[in-house]
Amino acid sequence: MRIDELLKTKQTYSYEIFPPKGTMPLSDARKVAEALAQDHPDWISTTFSAGGTGSSSHTAEICDTVQNDLGITSLAHLTCLGSSKEDVERYVEKLDRAGVSNVLALRGDRAPGRDAIDFTYASDLISYLKAQHPELCLGAACYPEGHVESPSMRRSLENLKRKQDAGADFFVTQLFFDNETFYRFRDLCARGRIKIPIVVGIMPFTSQKQITRMAFTCGASIPSAVIKRIIAAGDDPAEQAKAGVAYAIEQLQDLAQNGVDGLHIYTMNKPAMAHEIHEALVGCGYLAS
Ligand code: FAD
Repeated sequence: MRIDELLKTKQTYSYEIFPPKGTMPLSDARKVAEALAQDHPDWISTTFSAGGTGSSSHTAEICDTVQNDLGITSLAHLTCLGSSKEDVERYVEKLDRAGVSNVLALRGDRAPGRDAIDFTYASDLISYLKAQHPELCLGAACYPEGHVESPSMRRSLENLKRKQDAGADFFVTQLFFDNETFYRFRDLCARGRIKIPIVVGIMPFTSQKQITRMAFTCGASIPSAVIKRIIAAGDDPAEQAKAGVAYAIEQLQDLAQNGVDGLHIYTMNKPAMAHEIHEALVGCGYLAS
């Protein structure tokens, strides 16, 4: 099922997982997907790693499992920095064989040795895919606080318009911890003639260390409400993680109530945590059981 079609019918609920990293076997990643599927999300997205320990070759395989063995719509991430058109074609062919028709088209983070070959920005990849594979439904990334490399929100919004005009069918946000930031961003998008749906991506914080790292990698600000929750949780890692899930549930309830297009959970491959969030949203009537 195309995700843009789904978004026309409902406020969606979805999960993100990542493929095996390091020595983690593919079967473990499949088990994560199986456990997440119990919640019947509208789709599961699988991240793409162009280098390091995560293997991009496994992304298509996990997408295949999700879509064909678990019967859940798959969204395959794809980064283009360091990739040629031939690399992209090989990946799309794998997705096509698995019947996966949703792609989240991304630039990827800059890294030493990962230079642009055929694509410099995500909008280049979106234009290319739209022209070569018009059957694909294309998602793109957006940033409620602006992209870290962007000199201003205006420039960041111009890029979203560029991605929409290139053929993006929907956006998924980077994580954020302050819903007011998202509502301001949504208003700016509407004024900037950004019309495609915006799915919100929420990641529960798991510890003070993790949230600080996130803030520095993606530029998400940490509101005082979050700092107070972490202080109240004390030094116990389990209590900090519990506080993170509770905060994410409150964030999601508020977002659901305020009519966002879709709720997407960055599960960090933790199905029990995702299930707790799912049950809380079912409990207050935002999701069907
Ligand atoms: P772009 O849209 O290309 O933007 C990158 C920067 O370039 C921005 O600052 C933009 O303003 C600027 N820019 C764009 N076009 C122009 C132009 N023509 N002229 C001047 N400046 C321009 N990373 C992974 O490696 N794997 C993943 O699976 C992955 N999944 C993600 C999922 C989501 C929902 C999000 C939000 C991010 C994800 N990322 C992933 C991270 C992403 O790759 C980084 O945030 C990356 O730095 C930017 O990617 P982009 O697609 O937004 O890039």
